Amino acid sequence: MVSKMSSELEVLEERKRIVEEQEERLKIKMGKIGHKIAVISGKGGVGKSAVTVNLAVAFAVNGYRVGILDADIHGPSVPKMLGLSGRRLEVGPPGIFPVVGPFKIRVVSMDFLLPDENAPIIWRGPLKMAALRQLLSDIVWGELDLMLIDLPPGTGDEPLSIAQLLPEMDGVIIVTIPSEVSQIVVKKAVNFARTLGLPIIGVIENMSGFICPNCGAKIDIFQSGGGEKIAKEMEIPFLGKIPIDQRICEDSDRGKPFIIEHRDSPASKALMEIVQKIERFLNQKENKGGEK
Ligand code: ADP
Repeated sequence: MVSKMSSELEVLEERKRIVEEQEERLKIKMGKIGHKIAVISGKGGVGKSAVTVNLAVAFAVNGYRVGILDADIHGPSVPKMLGLSGRRLEVGPPGIFPVVGPFKIRVVSMDFLLPDENAPIIWRGPLKMAALRQLLSDIVWGELDLMLIDLPPGTGDEPLSIAQLLPEMDGVIIVTIPSEVSQIVVKKAVNFARTLGLPIIGVIENMSGFICPNCGAKIDIFQSGGGEKIAKEMEIPFLGKIPIDQRICEDSDRGKPFIIEHRDSPASKALMEIVQKIERFLNQKENKGGEK
């Protein structure tokens, strides 16, 4: 009995040691990344991944060395949006290397671990986080100025547990759509960020109105503007509104960054303004001597 207990204790001790060692490696591997920002949403389908990808491209065009961690483990869509479907992570002596995409954006996605594009991802049960921690601790990102982390949709346990695996993040961006905008969604996002001990960089209202490509008139399909009002009420920064543009959908499917393909569109301009606001947040943080 006593020896059984002591061997169980030994197993627990060993597991603890492995986790600590992985966390240490994760810290070292991610230590060369200037800024890390998590992108969250209240639910799926609001454009979190499309916004993440286009923001990443905009930062890369502005001269940043950018990485994307597609941590949406059940529905990874970043590779497709960047034309990287079917690519695989390469393994070398120091660890696992991200796939290098357009504008040298380094991408890690669960999609790169699947046998083919249509295979469902089976990340279930208690081993899920352990497997993810191990994977992340082996990724060799190299030197990056910015990493955007596309978390699974929602503000529940799963995105939170994944975010908790990642050391020293700068803040959280919430992507929402006008019909979803509610105090509840924003409150949940605030709680999410608070649990992580991170600031909310701001709210992005995506699919906010539709601009007629023929006449330029703006039609508020889902009553745009609610995000700004609620952000104000909740005293959270508002980053901007991105209109509906069917070309975002088409470009995502073609694996071409919309912000490059249609750089003069109102949606691209809105994205560029959002990038400036995020840059301001990051610069202020650096000037305050915030930890990098
Ligand atoms: P999420 O990551 O929140 O689940 P996605 O980024 O996959 O959502 O977006 C869902 C779909 O909506 C995708 O086909 C995407 O290209 C499209 N989409 C996102 N934002 C817009 C927009 N502003 N206008 C038109 N389509 C959009």
